[in-house]
Amino acid sequence: MRIRRLKLSGFKSFVEPAELRIDPGLTGVVGPNGCGKSNLLEAIRWVMGESSPKSMRGGGMEDVIFAGTASRPPRAFAEVVIQVQTADAEDLEVVRRIERGAGSAYRVNGRDVRAKDVALIFADAATGAHSPALVSQGRIAAVIAAKPAERRAMLEEAAGIAGLHVRRKDAETK
Ligand code: ATP
Ligand code: MG
Repeated sequence: MRIRRLKLSGFKSFVEPAELRIDPGLTGVVGPNGCGKSNLLEAIRWVMGESSPKSMRGGGMEDVIFAGTASRPPRAFAEVVIQVQTADAEDLEVVRRIERGAGSAYRVNGRDVRAKDVALIFADAATGAHSPALVSQGRIAAVIAAKPAERRAMLEEAAGIAGLHVRRKDAETK
């Protein structure tokens, strides 16, 4: 799977709509402290279904919505759009939107879907919110310090078999 494009609106410090094209290969994000590098990575995790506010450096899920500054009012919603090309060359556009008091909603290619459907798209693609392909500050140290079972989970994700566990769990609950 390859990320082609990312659009953010009202997400954390990205108050005005911003659009980024991501070319093939390794992408690095550079810039001064506080310019939004980590927020960008969090936006990718979030649109892929991240459900833990803690890993988004927030107390609650609504903390991803632009909170306002001295000169700008807060926003009522945050939206992230990710365009990806899947392993079988299919183009997918995944949208996650959160409104204050209304929770998150997802769309895939314009259709309303469940969080679970989005999780499956990215779990099967060996990517997703916890993908080893997304390396944030401190992540390198986490890999080195990980317990064997945790490291196994990282490797399973990298190898693309983590989706099988999601499917198995899903089948077991039916
Ligand atoms: P560093 O180089 O220090 O790691 P960075 O480029 O990774 O910095 P981020 O952590 O992505 O920077 O961005 C931090 C900025 O985002 C802070 O100014 C913070 O106030 C702002 N920010 C985070 N959440 C929100 C929010 N909900 N509303 C408005 N601004 C926010
Ligand atoms: Mg940072």
